[in-house]
Amino acid sequence: MDKYNNKETIKNTSFWSTFFDVTKDGKSKFSYRMKRWILVIAIHLLFFLSFFIDLQILEGTLSGSRFLGFHMIDPYMTMEVFLATFHLPINIIIGTSTIVIVYLMVGGRSYCSWVCPYGILSEIGEKWHNTLVNKKIIKSRKFDHRVRHIFWTIFLILSFTSGFIVFETINVVGILSRMMAYGWSLALIWVLLVLIMEVFFSRRAWCTYICPIGTTYGYIGKVSALRIEWNDSCDSCMVCHDVCFEPQVLEITKAKYKKQIDEKNITDAYITGADCTLCGRCVDVCHEDALKFDFRLKSLV
Ligand code: SF4
Ligand code: SF4
Repeated sequence: MDKYNNKETIKNTSFWSTFFDVTKDGKSKFSYRMKRWILVIAIHLLFFLSFFIDLQILEGTLSGSRFLGFHMIDPYMTMEVFLATFHLPINIIIGTSTIVIVYLMVGGRSYCSWVCPYGILSEIGEKWHNTLVNKKIIKSRKFDHRVRHIFWTIFLILSFTSGFIVFETINVVGILSRMMAYGWSLALIWVLLVLIMEVFFSRRAWCTYICPIGTTYGYIGKVSALRIEWNDSCDSCMVCHDVCFEPQVLEITKAKYKKQIDEKNITDAYITGADCTLCGRCVDVCHEDALKFDFRLKSLV
């Protein structure tokens, strides 16, 4: 319930309160964070049930799965497999095409916020990290987020040169997804190390700087239909910047652009940056209701 907090008080908002939002008429409702967590947990519960009681709704893991018989394959995994083996079975081609079409509709990096199990863990780590920074126990370290494109390329080159899908050995998303479907493994230690790095070293570092899966979905998201829409009731309070771990996509909210926007008579605009994960945190906290989800193609429907 942090919507009507200001920039100063939002830092001290409890994590639990961010799962609820309050409407203008004072009614409490689930925030986007709550809706996302419910979806992520539901997806992985279905993976778990497919393995343990053979409930054939959603089978497999996030790298490769079947939903009601439809194949779904992670696009980055497909590129790795192709570069490592120069062979793509028809099921992989169909599964990858399905996923690309789905995310062209629902926003590329929405995968990171609405599907990825590490996203949940990382949000908890982000809260711990921010608390430690606010108490001046640690410093917040930021790097150039474009380094993720270099990692994206390096892991593909490694697949090509080694004939092995190298990234999958350190892929925290795949490790967690397999763990939830099939049970614990020692690889969980690596996931915890990455989380510790995020808590004590750099906010949401894996998602921001490393994960090539999110980067691939970002490329798809550039042209996807579902986006966040901004409108000119924004007062540039910068609360959305504080809660967003990819704040570079929210440049339009900065006061320095206000004059330019007024001159051009822009009343609304889509947040089109590839890095936006459509997490909805900015929508949850905007006290002017200047941000909302919008379907870019609705005029064509
Ligand atoms: S979009 Fe909303 S939260 Fe972001 S700066 Fe504008 S008024 Fe503040
Ligand atoms: S712009 Fe909003 S929806 Fe996009 S990542 Fe930032 S907080 Fe999430």
